[in-house]
Parts: sequence; C-alpha cells; structure tokens
Amino acid sequence: FGKSYCIITDSKVKNLFGKSLLKQFKNKKIKVDLISFSAGEKYKTIKTVERISEQMLERNFDRKTCVIALGGGVVGDLAGFVAATYLRGVNFIQVPTTLLAMVDSSVGGKTGVNLSKGKNSFGAFYQPKKVYVCPEFLKKLPKPEIKNGLSEVVKHAIIKDKEFFNYLEQNYKKLLSVDSKIMSQVIKRNCEIKSRVVEKDEKESNYRQIVNYGHTIGHALEVLGNYKKFKHGEAISIGMIVEARISQKIGYLNEKEVDRIKKLLHNIGLPVKVPKDSKFSIKKIMNATQKDKKAVAGNVYYALPKSIGKTLSRNGKYVVKAPNSAILRSLEESRWFVFQLLQEKLMMH
Ligand code: NAD
Repeated sequence: FGKSYCIITDSKVKNLFGKSLLKQFKNKKIKVDLISFSAGEKYKTIKTVERISEQMLERNFDRKTCVIALGGGVVGDLAGFVAATYLRGVNFIQVPTTLLAMVDSSVGGKTGVNLSKGKNSFGAFYQPKKVYVCPEFLKKLPKPEIKNGLSEVVKHAIIKDKEFFNYLEQNYKKLLSVDSKIMSQVIKRNCEIKSRVVEKDEKESNYRQIVNYGHTIGHALEVLGNYKKFKHGEAISIGMIVEARISQKIGYLNEKEVDRIKKLLHNIGLPVKVPKDSKFSIKKIMNATQKDKKAVAGNVYYALPKSIGKTLSRNGKYVVKAPNSAILRSLEESRWFVFQLLQEKLMMH
C-alpha cells in the first residue's frame, strides 16, 4: 500500500508490539519508521496530530507513504486522521490491538480527535485500505480493557442482533476469560454488524447513527470527566442504560428489557450508574449533550433501541428528539441502580 511505511502507535503498544513490527519490516528491507505518542484518551488531540505530522515531514515521509495505525481506538482514530490530512491524504492500514478497536473503531473509517468541549469533534471520514485483526494481541490486554471492549459488543447486539444478545447473556464469562475461539467468533460477528451498517450509510447521514446508541450520554460523561474519569466503553455502558430508560419512557423498550441490558453490563463488570458527584449533575450532563455531533440547532437527538435487537426509526429517521422530562427522569433513575439491584435480590430471597 505504500513505498514506505510509518507506524504510528502509543507509548505502551510501542514496547509491546511496535518495536518487533518495525524490526520485521526492516528485515525485509522495507523503508519504515515508528512514531509514538503518550498512551491515553487525553492525548487524542490536535496537538498530538500536529507533532506527529511535523515528525513525519522531518523524516521525509511523502505521498507514497502508508500509515500503519498500530494500537487501540485512540491510536486508530488519531493515526487515521493524520493519514487523512498529511500532505492532503496518504494510505493507511488499521492494526487494532484492543478488543474495542477490533470489534468497533477500526471498522468504518471514522477518524479524528477530541476538543476540550467535544468528544471526536475534529476529524474526517477516511477509510483504511485494510484492517488486520489478530486476536493474539488480546493476550496482553488487561482485564479492564477487555470489559471496555465488551461494552461496544453489547451495543452491537442491542441494536442489531437479539440472538447474539441472548448468547452474550449466557457466555459473558467465557468472553471475560478471553477464550480465543469464542473471541474470534465474537470479533467476526461484530465486524459484520458494523460493516453492514457502514456500507448502507458511510457518512452517517441517517442510518449509521444507530451505532451511536449510548453515545449521546456516554460522550457527555467522557467530556465532564475530562477524558480521564471513564474509559470510553465505561461511559458508553452508563449511556446505554440511561438511553434504554429513555426508550422505555417514550414507549418502546419494556421494563424487562431494560433490566436485561443493565444486568448484562453489570455482570460484565461495567459501571451501570451515573456518578453522584456534582461534576456530573444532571444539568451539566444535559448541557454537555448539546455539543453532541447529532445535535442540530440546539436540539439533542438520540439513537435508541426499539426492542433488544432492533433500533428505533420514526418517519425514516434513525434518531429521535426525546422530551426533556424523559431524559431527566432517566438520568435521575440511573443514579440509584445499585440500590435497586440490592432490593431486587432481597425480594428474590
Ligand atoms: P486505547 O486506544 O486508549 O487503548 C486502551 C489502553 O490499552 C491503552 O493504554 C493502550 O496503550 C493499551 N493497549 C492497546 N493494545 C494493548 C494490548 N494488546 N495489550 C496491552 N495493552 C494494550 O482505548 P480503546 O478503548 O481501544 O479505544 C477508545 C477510543 O476509541 C476512544 O477514543 C473512542 O472515541 C474511539 N472509538 C472510535 C470509534 C470509531 O468508529 N472510530 C468507535 C468506537 C470508539
């Protein structure tokens, strides 16, 4: 895909896999170099893009260079955006190394970085030439990062595949133990779901918005937590619960389905309630959702499930403007979920 290769990765993945990939390219006498940045969501910024692009110029990378994004979703989004803009665009390849990146972010061509007030607010649609998925990378991935990736897996099941949701309810323990055979099947199923959605609406003019289920509230939580308090999948887990409640309040999901979603996320070990501290007051969350990319003329839109396995569409549109009262109540109720679970357990005994 190029006459030379620029591996872009983060500080952790560089040591785990980057250096050995670099060596393999060099052994084959291919022109290659590696550029890294500090690991973490808070470095997914324009500043990092600028620094990497300057380094690429210094190292004489030209238009025939192919960028290799080696890492998790942060690397994929950022390196993809560098590829989209460097010398007005060079080829790039995704090599995802986290579960989240394998099941979601490496597929679909959304690239970009965060602004201080807006998650993923600066970027471009830019497709990779190839995505190489190797589940072996997951052997080094810490458990919390496996859980983080499972959040998007659950999302795909809720929006598109009821049977897959049932399967996850029964097999989540095997997924947590990173059973490689099952993991490969799950990654494949997720890539199928995501790519089918993207094929229908690459630039997210309507249908693709369904993959944003959980993300209106989730992104607001990430911004309010300064991209440090929550991992992406954790914020989306809470977002999916709040948004499931919104769907219920406007007459779609039933109580039992909302409970099943909560229980699965809870069993996986993902956070399931809106934090209580003042940084995450309901007013602040509501204000932060105004910056969501789906917001139009001050109105906030939600991509919601209609039932488990199906997404809601009204008048041909896959996002809805929910009434403020439904959003407020859903946020409020999502604060006392743990108490509610305990109550349910007590009632069962
Ligand atoms: P991440 O890239 O920060 O990776 C998490 C951590 O795992 C990092 O510290 C990383 O260094 C480390 N790591 C990566 N691979 C490893 C491995 N194999 N072994 C051990 N450690 C490893 O985070 P993420 O959760 O992969 O991605 C989250 C990002 O993805 C967010 O910025 C989110 O907005 C984005 N995202 C994008 C899309 C999209 O369509 N473009 C979709 C979903 C999420």
